[in-house]
Amino acid sequence: MNTRENPTNDPSLESWVESARGHGDFPIQNLPFGVFTRRTDGELACVGVAIGDSALDLSACWEAGLFAGTPVEHVNVFARDSLNDFVEAGPEAWSAVRGRVSELLRTDTSTLRDDAAVRDTALVEQGKIAMQLPMRIGDYTDFYASAYHATNVGKMFRPDGEPLLPNYKHLPVGYHGRASSIVVSGEEVRRPMGQTKADDAAPTFGPCRLLDYELEMGFFIGVENSLGARVSVEAAKKHIFGMVIVNDWSARDIQKWEYVPLGPFNAKNFATSVSPWVVTLEALAPFQVKHTTRGADDPPLLEYLKGADEDAYDIQLEVGIASAQMRTVGTAPHIVSRGSFRDMFWTITQMAAHHTSTGCNLRVGDLLASGTVSGPEESARGCLLELTWRGTNPITLPTREERKFLADGDELVMRGWCERAGATRIGFGECRGIVTPAE
Ligand code: MN
Repeated sequence: MNTRENPTNDPSLESWVESARGHGDFPIQNLPFGVFTRRTDGELACVGVAIGDSALDLSACWEAGLFAGTPVEHVNVFARDSLNDFVEAGPEAWSAVRGRVSELLRTDTSTLRDDAAVRDTALVEQGKIAMQLPMRIGDYTDFYASAYHATNVGKMFRPDGEPLLPNYKHLPVGYHGRASSIVVSGEEVRRPMGQTKADDAAPTFGPCRLLDYELEMGFFIGVENSLGARVSVEAAKKHIFGMVIVNDWSARDIQKWEYVPLGPFNAKNFATSVSPWVVTLEALAPFQVKHTTRGADDPPLLEYLKGADEDAYDIQLEVGIASAQMRTVGTAPHIVSRGSFRDMFWTITQMAAHHTSTGCNLRVGDLLASGTVSGPEESARGCLLELTWRGTNPITLPTREERKFLADGDELVMRGWCERAGATRIGFGECRGIVTPAE
């Protein structure tokens, strides 16, 4: 696969940005795209790339003529408050820009390194910027692609039946989510109000009592398909710009009462958090692995879902919780689970192909999320519903506080990264969010 041989992923590359040479998330082999503002009044947002502990302002680079000869040389698509205009320039532009940034940041390229005026304007410490939502998201879809997660949930809610519903292994199950309430990492998440019903009582309206997170990966559509035009599994990768970590906050008590028969509604529409840096499929190519979760006993795939045998990604994921008390005394987030995105039953290419199989058009900036990433081990369960088995097996934090579900003041910290022999480790940074009380 020639993307794996992309010169930007060469492990021998080094950057003159010193903080990019450690073992952090953002070495020169990553170069994820995001949107930020400097923390000064009136400063406009711009598109940037993470490099080590810094971010490179691509708008400033464009103004300095550093993108001459690339497909974006005529319009500064980086002087924007979203990635959409840049992404709409197409896959050749993504690749050319990432290639140019790689070249500019390389140890042996002096253009930017030795131009103090441009360099000091364009290169800013990440501690001095505020990350924004990376894309203007028109539509958001959430899948349910981990068979481990779906099996656990099925065992809890339908103890007498088969844990997986009959459709599960035939099609990637999903629902249309809410784009307007997607927020960037770091924004607070208010505990929702909602209607719930205890088994032997009348429904009541009040603060959600069973607030949960869901660890997921999301991918942004970068190339649209027109209404009526299906996207095949083989072609799907060319329609995907890159990936982020997603926290699909979930109100389990609201969900339980409302979900029949049309699926989740208010239980999911109050907030979804995403990590700010979009890691491109080009950067992720070295971590593409065989898709091995479909077993010999599983039903055969229909033709339109075949062809994804190489389309899994080995992305390591972990979830930490820091209560308000833990943050007060300076205790690091307590890691409650670790897993890998390679354990998903459906691939991102199958999800995109299935989504468009009716002719449904996906547009630039649409976010498709995977569903909770759970693995075969108990330690790889990606939400509290599973980890505490519906609250029957609470988690104990280092402060001896117990958690069945999330309490006000809890901060969720999700991290993701890729590493393997022969490639440079790259990461997604963090997806954070603090729960604030219902109002
Ligand atoms: Mn979800």
